[in-house]
Amino acid sequence: MQPSIFNARVPLPGRDEVFLMNTFTDAQLVVSNEVVDLLDRVAASPATVGSLNAEEGATLGELVSNGFLVESREAEGRELEQYFRRLREDTSEMRATVLTTLQCNFACDYCFQGDHGDYNKVAQKMSLDTAVRVSDWLESQFDVHHPKRFGLVFFGGEPLLNLPVMYAMAERLWHSIKRRRMGMYISIITNGLLLTPEVVDRLLPYGLSGIKITLDGDRDTHNRMRPLRGGQGTFDRIIENIRRVAHKVSIAIGGNFDESSVDSYPALLDFLKEQDFADRLGRVAFKPIIRDKAPPRAGGVIPLTAVNAQGKPLNGTCMTSAGAGTGSPCDSCHFVEDKMSFLREETKKRGFNTLDGVHMGPCQIHRQHAYTIGPDGSLYACPGFTGDAAYSTGHIDGRRDPWRAQAASKFDALGAWRNCGDCTFIPVCAGGCSVASHTEHGDMNKPACHKASFEAALLSLAHEAANAA
Ligand code: SF4
Ligand code: SF4
Repeated sequence: MQPSIFNARVPLPGRDEVFLMNTFTDAQLVVSNEVVDLLDRVAASPATVGSLNAEEGATLGELVSNGFLVESREAEGRELEQYFRRLREDTSEMRATVLTTLQCNFACDYCFQGDHGDYNKVAQKMSLDTAVRVSDWLESQFDVHHPKRFGLVFFGGEPLLNLPVMYAMAERLWHSIKRRRMGMYISIITNGLLLTPEVVDRLLPYGLSGIKITLDGDRDTHNRMRPLRGGQGTFDRIIENIRRVAHKVSIAIGGNFDESSVDSYPALLDFLKEQDFADRLGRVAFKPIIRDKAPPRAGGVIPLTAVNAQGKPLNGTCMTSAGAGTGSPCDSCHFVEDKMSFLREETKKRGFNTLDGVHMGPCQIHRQHAYTIGPDGSLYACPGFTGDAAYSTGHIDGRRDPWRAQAASKFDALGAWRNCGDCTFIPVCAGGCSVASHTEHGDMNKPACHKASFEAALLSLAHEAANAA
């Protein structure tokens, strides 16, 4: 018998106790130092097991049943492989992130998409005909895989610029789901400018359960970061739109920060807390803007990663707004340790529900039946790869291009976590964001490691558990 490599322990200050967590089983316990001592004794000499008294034996049983002690590291390694295989092949829930358009009505300077130059003239928009074919294809997948539940995520660009496609798909898929006696939910990731009660009312009957809206800091900062093409601010209108719909549907707030905006987030949180819809907000969570390897900056700033010098798609669709409060995609994208911890604590302090920073993955790229579908019907492994057609893994019309097949086999074999040694966080991290690995290292199987962020979040989780105990 050996201790699991996924055990994490945090001594609790001022107490004769330790927070124990196993990231594979998700067991979380506050235990006495004697229990930790027992764990260490068994680790040092498995023969100890034969000489335990009844009380120690019962404790040992608890540790085994919670996964803190395992038969052997080899057996645990095999279980981990199986876990990732099961996750990849899981058909109990199917999810489709549909990019209704790559056009956007904002002109954020950190985003390659949007109302810059003639981008919107050339950016793809899904036609109603393609929406019908996407729905046909999804129904064929339902009949092959028989999921219990289906999640439809509308994303872009700005998805609300293509309402006819959203309405058509939602209605059609809802009816086909009901015929198959499955469950369905819809979520939308939007900049919020075109969000109206009418849009919400139209989609609620088809399972609309959450809307994620991006606010990039307090009013002034957001207006600087996310203006319209003519430079007009968008904050007030978005807040008013949230106010008009928050009693109807769960709203999650996301935000993208960089070194120039991060300090404005506490003011944004204070502002949100004062609003009459504060207690209707489902989740509030922020993440850094991704940029291309920027030239080194003065000390104390956030080391941002990649949008290249030409403003070229780093990662396909708007990574900067990816991230769904309702659980899909990309809340695990790119974190920058100290600022992420700071904003998480500030968010919690004001009583908002946020990510705990430990349970961050594995993200949807590890699930074969979480599809991302571009405006032309191309399939992708995750929203982060949609800007590069070479990373399309297939097409809803079943065409068999060799390059798509090649990309699909790359994603099938994905496993950056295999290069993570005995890291405690593998089950909740899986080697980090593959888009980040691809962008930063040119190899999606190289870990994109933010272990310090997990460690900081673990401390916070431990203190919360201790306070609750
Ligand atoms: S690989 Fe990265 S961009 Fe893609 S779903 Fe995972 S965290 Fe998001
Ligand atoms: S990327 Fe880093 S934190 Fe994540 S599993 Fe690998 S070593 Fe651990």
